[in-house]
Amino acid sequence: MSCQEAEKKINDLREIINHHNYRYYVLDRPEITDAQYDQLMRELERLEQEYPALITPDSPTQRVGGQPLTGFGTVRHRVPMLSLGNAFGEQELRDFDRRVRSGLGGEEVEYVVELKIDGLAVSLTYEEGLFIQGATRGDGETGEDITQNLKTIKAIPLRLRKEVAALDVRGEAYLPKKEFQRLNEEREEAGEMTFANPRNAAAGSLRQLDSRVTAARSLRAFLYGIGYIEGIEVKTHSQGLDLLRELGLPVNPHFRIFPSIDGVIDHCLSWTEGRHNLPYEIDGLVIKVNSLRQQQELGFTAKSPRWAIAYKFPAEQAVTQVEDIIVRVGRTGVLTPTAVLKPVLVAGSTVSRATLHNEDIIREKDIRIGDTVIIHKAGDVIPEVVEVLKDKRTGQERVFEIPNVCPECGTETVRLEGEAAVRCTGLACPAQLREAFIHFISRDAMNIEGLGPAVVTQLLEADLIQDVADLYYLDFAELIKLERMGSKSAQNLLDAIAKSKENSLAQLIFALGIRHVGSRAGKLLAKHFGSLDKLMAAPYEEIITVPEVGTKMAESMVQFFHQEDNRRVVEKLKAAGVRMEEEQGAREEQSLAGLIFVVTGSLEGFSRKEAQEAIEARGGKVSSSVSKKTNYVVVGADPGSKYDKARELGISILDEEGFKKLLGINQT
Ligand code: NAD
Repeated sequence: MSCQEAEKKINDLREIINHHNYRYYVLDRPEITDAQYDQLMRELERLEQEYPALITPDSPTQRVGGQPLTGFGTVRHRVPMLSLGNAFGEQELRDFDRRVRSGLGGEEVEYVVELKIDGLAVSLTYEEGLFIQGATRGDGETGEDITQNLKTIKAIPLRLRKEVAALDVRGEAYLPKKEFQRLNEEREEAGEMTFANPRNAAAGSLRQLDSRVTAARSLRAFLYGIGYIEGIEVKTHSQGLDLLRELGLPVNPHFRIFPSIDGVIDHCLSWTEGRHNLPYEIDGLVIKVNSLRQQQELGFTAKSPRWAIAYKFPAEQAVTQVEDIIVRVGRTGVLTPTAVLKPVLVAGSTVSRATLHNEDIIREKDIRIGDTVIIHKAGDVIPEVVEVLKDKRTGQERVFEIPNVCPECGTETVRLEGEAAVRCTGLACPAQLREAFIHFISRDAMNIEGLGPAVVTQLLEADLIQDVADLYYLDFAELIKLERMGSKSAQNLLDAIAKSKENSLAQLIFALGIRHVGSRAGKLLAKHFGSLDKLMAAPYEEIITVPEVGTKMAESMVQFFHQEDNRRVVEKLKAAGVRMEEEQGAREEQSLAGLIFVVTGSLEGFSRKEAQEAIEARGGKVSSSVSKKTNYVVVGADPGSKYDKARELGISILDEEGFKKLLGINQT
């Protein structure tokens, strides 16, 4: 390539990359996958390395992130927030290690390896132990002031557990996979644009001018580094992480220390599969030199530290064929086109369906029946079509048109202004009705065991149910007439339905399927109103005062309870004996669901049994031995070897005070 050709290529690449940076960092709406972006960036880096005279200070290789959004105040970071260099594969990790050791004149190096949480980088500032400001990374020098939004993240303490004169701490705000999926489903139903991945969803949620929107999104955070500190000296990065933990900040428990690069490499490779078991998305691991003195000696490039690198997982993509495009009708009548794929293995599981979201996306990507496509697992949960391989077309492909009548009930479909979704307008659409039942019986709603979609379809077809309240009036004699329904299963089903009458008010509110009202909103509304009657009678002005309830949700509730049909269903549920009031001393929120605890040593305020009960009442589990699966080790006086094991495995350690805090028990 001549120098002129290289210059042209470099300029083209810069233009393309700048376009994608803008979509990704400013709009939170990427058009290409991270792997595709990384490839473009590597190509530019390679050319710039070959022609160093062509490097300019405004090249994307020399800059961090994107412009801060207008609309927020700006925050100048006390110490710049940088990006990280990337390593793909074992060889590049070894190259990094070689660079590090030669930069230190051949010294031995200890590495800390952390998970690379795929969220949004944030910086939190504490003065005298108080949280005073929070910001995005922005362009590295200046970020957006998102203090109010960060305050809605419950994991972020407003006061540290130990006072520190001044502290800037860096970390990642993220959206758990389940939340991401829920949010996208809700957006799809509402006819709004879905987020491409949990990172964009987290960024979109935090960069909201109305912090009530942020509050409704159940964001979490992990902190992984000290940007600036006054009053305490730390000598290594891992000591820094221990300190953050002591201060009451959430630190990801999966960090490990390795004496050399070999252990680091094995560890990185093992997480390539292990990542799928995590409740949040990671896109790699971050390797950091542990000694802060060595970090200082190595210093920085224009964009990233020389003492750290991000190991990125290989792209989770595969090539397959679109065999058909089918349409599913949801609970609120939205028609969602779905691609039926030739089954293919991606990221450890076989994929045979991919959501196409709506007709705009199909048109934008020009996806046709018969096309060969690249699919990608976004957020590890819902596979998506990334790109059509147009040069593989044979001419046999068929363009898909979204039907103008509902495929389930034949009623005309409409596309409302400003919405991407097409909806069925049929009030008696069987698909909508079926979905409403499936929602009503689902786990977080009325949780009726033994009643799945297949039985719902049977009951509907036999005309035994017309609305959800009819479930409580089913009769044994009618049930056993259904195909494949023996007397035992009929009785079990009736028992499960009867049991669900005792469910919490929160579950009932969620189960009703009011648009925009999710299970968290159900809990908040139940807590505020205490009974369904009060909620039904409440005016918009009162509903809107409930924390985290926004205008859309409040409007939707008023509308729902205004409708005669809905009020009638509620009356029928009440007459059947379904609980309409919040239980006295409502059950503890399942705040520790899915977490595994080990308790060691003696606690002052709890016997071993009491500690166990407190954990289990909140949905957590107690185990007798420490393993990699343990999330927290609660340590009392004179702890045993479990404490040492926990430290060795890098598991979060809680003293009694921290334990109480986690349980939400007020301390005096
Ligand atoms: P990066 O994501 O590669 O790595 C740096 C970031 O990692 C930090 O800012 C921090 O937020 C995060 N991080 C998570 N856990 C961490 C830990 N334990 N320690 C330190 N940092 C941790 O770099 P970047 O500059 O944020 O973004 C560049 C990447 O963004 C690209 O490689 C690409 O994957 C993606 N991108 C994609 C597009 C697109 O159009 N698809 C566009 C721009 C950027």
